[in-house]
Amino acid sequence: MPCYPIKETIVEEGALKSPMGRQILRRTPGRFSQKSFDAPVHNGMGKDALHLLNHNGEFLKPCPGTKEYICCGYQILNVATNCPLDCSYCILQSYFLNQPNLKIHVNLEENLAGILACIDKNPHQVFRVGTGEFADSLALDPIARWTDILMGPFSTRKNAVLEFKTKTTHIEGLTSSPHRNRIIVSWSLNSPLISATEEKGAATLKQRLEAARKCQSEGFVVSFHFDPLIAHENWREGYLKTIELMDRYLNPRGIIWISMGSLRFMPGLKPIIRKRHPRSIILNGEFIPGLDGKARYFKPIRMELFHFMREKLENWHRDTGLYLCMESDEIWRKTMGWSPGNSDGLKRFLDDRVRKIFG
Ligand code: SF4
Repeated sequence: MPCYPIKETIVEEGALKSPMGRQILRRTPGRFSQKSFDAPVHNGMGKDALHLLNHNGEFLKPCPGTKEYICCGYQILNVATNCPLDCSYCILQSYFLNQPNLKIHVNLEENLAGILACIDKNPHQVFRVGTGEFADSLALDPIARWTDILMGPFSTRKNAVLEFKTKTTHIEGLTSSPHRNRIIVSWSLNSPLISATEEKGAATLKQRLEAARKCQSEGFVVSFHFDPLIAHENWREGYLKTIELMDRYLNPRGIIWISMGSLRFMPGLKPIIRKRHPRSIILNGEFIPGLDGKARYFKPIRMELFHFMREKLENWHRDTGLYLCMESDEIWRKTMGWSPGNSDGLKRFLDDRVRKIFG
């Protein structure tokens, strides 16, 4: 799978003081310009322009979640924003509407000691950390080499795991590393139709699962995210096909968790999807505003999606750490047959999965 066409690299003042900034620039093709502003220079999302800059905020932050639904207590390591892939449902389209370009925070290495100190200071807390909330974790790894910077330090932590979540096959940084402990490689999956039509620039479903198989054979723990589940025509057959492919490619015993979330979006994303992805089918369903203000499917549709997926995934293997993302206690009970009760309960469930798999 090729890396993405970067036409221009914009380097903010000070960004070349760090070794990371200089190394990225050496690996990046395309025109180079030095700018010290953050203006929208591209139409659309500027996905072909790379912006190297220092991040002034905190690097490690709890996932914002919402008090209305049960959240998992994930920690986001903010290494980059925006993504060269172009999924029609991507929430980043509205988050970063006025902040285009692919941004890599080149002062990560300088801040790493502080990030690790924060983890080490709380030995009784399990830090489930991911880089894939504001960007795809591995899409730009051939350029940024976050795997080189992060895998060693995280592999020696006793109370943390690092999850690389992706829709790509850019696993070279992982497989060439000597580190495996405390690292989770994770793929977002969908039905064959949604993967092929709504996830522009992503690897095909088969390619993702081949990469996951390769990672399993190389000793990595893997995880999967069915998020967003989309109630499209023949969705049952579609998602079943994906689970059959998982069965063909993977050993379910090496899976730490599988999350499920149904399509949800802030109302502001709708016109952006219509404009940027006019052929998209994802807005065809019936939506209601959720307690967090996001549009989501009617409860019966969500329940059907989760119930179906749970049944099929559990038929495949009973112990894959299946959980729901941002759902209510009621939906948990009715579709999963149990509930963690609240966000603390879900956090405990996932922390126990970490202890079970990594010790
Ligand atoms: S891979 Fe993730 S971050 Fe990238 S466009 Fe798709 S949904 Fe957005």
